[in-house]
Amino acid sequence: MYAEIVASGTELLMGETQDTNSSYLGARLPALGMELRQITLVGDDMERYVEVLERSWRRNPFTFTTGGLGPTVDDMTREAIARVFGEEPYVDAEQRQVLMNLFKSRGQEMPQRNIKQAWLVPSARAIPNKMGTAPGWWAEKEGHVVIAMPGPPRELYEMWEHQVVPQIKARVKESVVLTRTIKTIGLGEALVDEMATEVLGIENPYVGTYAKPDGIYLRIIARGKSEAEAAALLRPVEEKLVRIFGKNVWGTDDEAPEESVGTLLRQRGLTLATMESCTGGMLANYITNVAGSSGYYKGGIISYTNELKIASGVPSDLIETHGAVSEQVAAAMAQAARVRLKADVGIGVTGVAGPEALEGKPPGTVYIGLADAKEAKATYYRFPANDRTLVKRRAVTSALLALRAHLAGA
Ligand code: ATP
Ligand code: MG
Repeated sequence: MYAEIVASGTELLMGETQDTNSSYLGARLPALGMELRQITLVGDDMERYVEVLERSWRRNPFTFTTGGLGPTVDDMTREAIARVFGEEPYVDAEQRQVLMNLFKSRGQEMPQRNIKQAWLVPSARAIPNKMGTAPGWWAEKEGHVVIAMPGPPRELYEMWEHQVVPQIKARVKESVVLTRTIKTIGLGEALVDEMATEVLGIENPYVGTYAKPDGIYLRIIARGKSEAEAAALLRPVEEKLVRIFGKNVWGTDDEAPEESVGTLLRQRGLTLATMESCTGGMLANYITNVAGSSGYYKGGIISYTNELKIASGVPSDLIETHGAVSEQVAAAMAQAARVRLKADVGIGVTGVAGPEALEGKPPGTVYIGLADAKEAKATYYRFPANDRTLVKRRAVTSALLALRAHLAGA
């Protein structure tokens, strides 16, 4: 079943706002059995909007729009749909009441302009917006649906997940699509491809490989007439891939390394402490993005200077002999964090985020130390150094995955 997205807003064309809404939707359409054929960005220009929308509506069972549902003149999605359908907008009494109540609950007068957010056309019904004032539209004519959602991402996400998906599922029963992403680390893309040959090139379930900052992903997409049928196709392939990639598999689906590390620490009843230099607290940030991390994370030291490294328990002679960016210092940082913060496991991160070299070491050089009661060791990494933030991101991901591998092996 084909679908298109029309994202509106002049700021999208000016490069001021990235069209993340379309990526969000694009990532979620296959699971509903939809094949996205085109994404069009259109400015706040009624003629063009109508033209693009009309073409999409005519040729696709589903069109999704984002943006242009606000109260201002440049918010023109409702008018555009009305024009395409050849229908006259009217103020819907129920939506008007919903809107008035919303403003009342905020202790505000409703500005007259907002009344257009209570508009409907005969072929549209309102989709509630739990995060903002503008309801979406489910507009349907000649068997083709246009679903209009707001531009602000948090409004769109909520509406999509809780209002739109259930309605699409209720309608599209004939085809169920299940997907599973298996995340691997430590193998190159070509090798992953080779190892998975057996299951590649099949149409259903389809398996694709993708290179990501945290390893190579294998994505299985299975279609069936029912959930059970799709699951029966997916399961054997998933099991086969997990068998083939064994220890290199570190997670599935939306699972992030910080989550899988958290789960392992909790299962094993271990606590964690960190000492980071080049990542400047980013590692601690990721670890604490997981709800419940206080149960296993003792905290971290951002020892950005050598002085602070030494004051935090890293032997000064190691820094003098090997440099702050070295295997020895990374291992000592991990050990010092563990001891200082009385944790079972410690991580130490030291490296060169760039763009300049440091101590003669090129940007992108990172050492990640791991320490427990038995030993302290470190691993050398060399990341592409074109972007400081990306080097930090990769260092954080690698540190988490190194810890994960350590815990999984323990
Ligand atoms: P509002 O009521 O806030 O005006 P709206 O539905 O009219 O909402 P727009 O005016 O088009 O939406 O956009 C509002 C804001 O939402 C933009 O300034 C931008 O920050 C964000 N936004 C809009 N479209 C997108 C998009 N395609 N991807 C990501 N963010 C977007
Ligand atoms: Mg707007």
